[in-house]
Amino acid sequence: PEGFIQNAQQSQSRLGAGGRLSLSYLRDNDQITPAWNSVNPELAAKLLGQDSVSELVELSEEIKTNASGFKPIELEYALSHDVSVNENTVKASNIAAFLEGSDPLLKNEVVVLSAHHDHVGIGRPDSTGDAIYNGADDDGSGTVGLLNTAQAMLVAKKAGAGPKRSVLFLHVSGEEEGLLGSRYYSDHPIYPIENTVANINVDMIGRVDKEHEENKDYIYVIGGEIISSGLDSLLRSANEATVNLDLSNRYNDLEDPNQFYRRSDHWNFGRLGVPFIFFFNGVHADYHRPSDSIEKIEWEALAKRTQLLYTTTAMIANTENRPEVDNREFIEKTQEGN
Ligand SMILES: [Zn+2]
Repeated sequence: PEGFIQNAQQSQSRLGAGGRLSLSYLRDNDQITPAWNSVNPELAAKLLGQDSVSELVELSEEIKTNASGFKPIELEYALSHDVSVNENTVKASNIAAFLEGSDPLLKNEVVVLSAHHDHVGIGRPDSTGDAIYNGADDDGSGTVGLLNTAQAMLVAKKAGAGPKRSVLFLHVSGEEEGLLGSRYYSDHPIYPIENTVANINVDMIGRVDKEHEENKDYIYVIGGEIISSGLDSLLRSANEATVNLDLSNRYNDLEDPNQFYRRSDHWNFGRLGVPFIFFFNGVHADYHRPSDSIEKIEWEALAKRTQLLYTTTAMIANTENRPEVDNREFIEKTQEGN
């Protein structure tokens, strides 16, 4: 029909938008994402022989309510589609800083702190025309938390109060593309995974969600008690000794529909049996929008969460026995077959 060619041309730029980055050493040609195209509702109605968009909507509802009664219809139109696959190599870097532990034996074990330094870049503009996605909370806040923790730990070490175990401050890339940087690290660890006693990941710790506008002294904890009772008790002691935040376990459930326990970089440690804690302030209206900007950061909340990050790390680094993965459900659901 009229408009089809024009519409198709307009869609050209969006063709293949399903393609995405993957790690070259894991590349599997069978997994190339198929290209896709879309048409506007008016054109879709025409193609399917409907007189209007509302008829199209009705048809779609009918099919949804009686999916088993669906019968394909032969159309008068055919679509030809030439597929070309473009491959680009994109280089990205993880940045790691190492603080050696003070104990001659325990320094061979390492606590890994992680935060991702990438965000989603330049994208679709918002209503003000702003197309730069700042990522101040996601995950500017976490990277700043890591840098401050590193700085404080270095001061402590110089004063003779450094951690007994070593600490690795790992700023990873490619999180938004599918946890690529942390996947790479966990497949090519600088220090053996067996000697990695825990991972603490911070991804969005600078904001306050709707539920906590009245009480900003909180943080969602994911991991911890659903993996390791030892790690959980270290976290609680660290919290009680310092900032006393409300440690919310709202999302800390292997059955949680959001699946936050798999959704940031900690998972690449968790999948290998390394106990983890993920600190997270919850989602907000600026999530993955240009408006995730620095003026909206709640500095006091960020500072308190960073103190909790520091103290928890220090306690894990100094505890006599490393925390073990001892939660049955976690082991059964995530570790079997690995
Ligand atoms: Zn993030």
